[in-house]
Amino acid sequence: MPLSKPSFSIYTLGCKLNQLESEALADALCREGFQLLPWGTGEGAVPADLLLINTCTVTSMAEQKARRMIRKSLRENPEASVIVTGCYAQLERAAIETLDSGSSGGKRLFVVPGDAKSALLELPRFLTAAGAESGSGNLSALIEAWFKAEAGAAVIRADAFRFVPGDFSSHSRGFLKIQDGCDNHCAYCRVTLARGPSVSLPAEKALADLKALEEKGYREAVLTGVNISQYCDEGGRDLGGLLEYLLAGTQEIRIRLSSLEPDGLSEDLVQTLAHQRLRPHFHLSVQSGSPLILGRMGRAYGPEDVEKAAGRLRDIKTDPFLACDIITGFPGETAAEFEKTCEICRRIGFAWIHAFPYSRRPGTAAWSFKNPVSERDAAERVSALLRLAKQGRREYISRWIGKEVEAIVEGGDEKDAPLLQATSENYLKLLLDSPYTQGTVPAPGTLLRCRIRGQAADPFDAAAEIVG
Ligand code: SF4
Repeated sequence: MPLSKPSFSIYTLGCKLNQLESEALADALCREGFQLLPWGTGEGAVPADLLLINTCTVTSMAEQKARRMIRKSLRENPEASVIVTGCYAQLERAAIETLDSGSSGGKRLFVVPGDAKSALLELPRFLTAAGAESGSGNLSALIEAWFKAEAGAAVIRADAFRFVPGDFSSHSRGFLKIQDGCDNHCAYCRVTLARGPSVSLPAEKALADLKALEEKGYREAVLTGVNISQYCDEGGRDLGGLLEYLLAGTQEIRIRLSSLEPDGLSEDLVQTLAHQRLRPHFHLSVQSGSPLILGRMGRAYGPEDVEKAAGRLRDIKTDPFLACDIITGFPGETAAEFEKTCEICRRIGFAWIHAFPYSRRPGTAAWSFKNPVSERDAAERVSALLRLAKQGRREYISRWIGKEVEAIVEGGDEKDAPLLQATSENYLKLLLDSPYTQGTVPAPGTLLRCRIRGQAADPFDAAAEIVG
């Protein structure tokens, strides 16, 4: 029986950008005939020949997870080759390389720094040309040869925009990377160390990629990056300018934005966001409601700017879904300062709050800050915000009961039956009285018109019915 191409699995940590880049790597391997296997180590999992781990460095927890997964992969898959890339690999390559304790049979762990991650898009073709086969036992040697061949030509940062998957595993919406890196130096952030200064995809290329998604039948695309508020192409177009250009150059496709900086909402951008094909869902990187803490974090806005931003977004959209990021337990955050964060969250009434405990990161300004907050207090503050978030979500859903929204069907399977899942334009997870019983199940990615009927069993979700 002819030997087949090697199989592979991908484990991704971190943000939407990392997810998108993993999708592109998987797509490149699948196009070369490599078989994608679900990630799984341990009992009953089908071992893949190649394991890819795409890492994150935002928190020490993310790095711990990566190390644990690397060790587990090497230990439980003695035949497999393991490639580690991403932001943690960018900053701690040497430390990661020590995790391969020279297991029997030579080198099996390969670390590709984040800024050379796009070079991995070439690996499948190299392995095909080298005759790589599943179970042949020479995969690591071939990867080592690729490394040596690539070492000189490691793709410099300019190629940060080569991650354009032909298709997306969720099939419900497309993702478009329009920006990478960041020019800010927030005191707690390691991302800017790992991904470097801000770079932007030329608007013409962004339009071509968005049109390609529209032609493939995607009804929605998420524009993503590290800090898309810093989008600025060679022509000097900012985010608002890009959105106008994309809307003018496409017909139907809806656009959703990943996250925005509160101080990045110029009046021009706000006016562009009013466009009906821009989704009424905005995620603001707020981080704190305390002027003192925002100042210590090196954030360039105050709580009043956050409230103004939320107010402007509510002026241009009918009750948009407003969410935010908050870091609790930043050095110097007393109970009184934290209360200011709770107050602003209550006043704005966010429909969701992503709250994270501060993670002290090497190489950041805050690494040496005094007045640390105990992990317990930071965790309690996350719980307090989670309670506020759940309340905000319930109140948001209740305001939409009886109203109609556009929604896109998510991949689901019979086990969820009879309820079908969809995501509404205003970012609600809808559980739809399903057509399963009527035999016409809309495919993932289908655009529907739905009426919200109430809270679903799970307070995060809304029950809805299809009306068109
Ligand atoms: S804006 Fe601040 S937190 Fe966000 S990526 Fe840039 S430096 Fe990091």
